[in-house]
Amino acid sequence: MECMDEEGAPDRLELLREVIAQTCALVAPRHCPCGREGAWLCRSCAALLRADPQRVEACCDALQELTAARVREEERDGVLLPAGVDHTPLLPVLALGEYGGDLQRLILAWKNGGMLHLGTRIAPALAPAVAHLAGTAPVHLVPVPSQRSARLRRGEDHTAELVRAMERRGIGRALLLGARPTTAQDGQGARQRRTRQILLSGRGARIARRAAHPVVIVDDVVTTGSTLRGMHEALTAAGMSVLGAVVVASARLPADGGTSPARK
Ligand SMILES: [Zn+2]
Repeated sequence: MECMDEEGAPDRLELLREVIAQTCALVAPRHCPCGREGAWLCRSCAALLRADPQRVEACCDALQELTAARVREEERDGVLLPAGVDHTPLLPVLALGEYGGDLQRLILAWKNGGMLHLGTRIAPALAPAVAHLAGTAPVHLVPVPSQRSARLRRGEDHTAELVRAMERRGIGRALLLGARPTTAQDGQGARQRRTRQILLSGRGARIARRAAHPVVIVDDVVTTGSTLRGMHEALTAAGMSVLGAVVVASARLPADGGTSPARK
């Protein structure tokens, strides 16, 4: 290796990084969660992260609020409303895609497979979704807390790391509130069972009350939305204004690409 002058330092650092990466690749070849070799994230999986965010709250059963019930059909403002119940989602939820295939493999590798570095690729991918909810206004980004057991098993809190990476990208201010999820108890009403209760620690609630900006909740995957509902309740109880939630993937996508009316 030839000697390098001062100006060569950044190149040298880059070279060193490549040497380390190549050496590591000899021991454990670089491969994408989808199985393709040669890169930590292949082009096709990187493209999944560039997808336009979609509204998915209509697919989240636990987020639906009963807004009206009609015994028989009714005409209102010239519109015939069928007999039945209307539901409106509690908050908007944006996802990059459906939880399946390569996107699912990517998320599992990130949260369970020791590939925490994928969070630095996921973070910028969520910027358009945050902008959709908040425009250019400053926001606090609040990660959904991991179960303590999951955190101990994995050795890290991947959603908290994701939010820190989003803050480094200037997407919002990370607000880590020390919330903890509690599991639903027997004997609770249907409403409580649909909500995964989340308790802000005393300190978390104090920080939330002092926070200057509205909040966007950040999570990896939404299924029924019960966790997001629990977060929404905990944050609004602490006096925060919640603009919505941003997730990497949703268990289900609306058939029409996110414009369907709320449904149960
Ligand atoms: Zn891939």
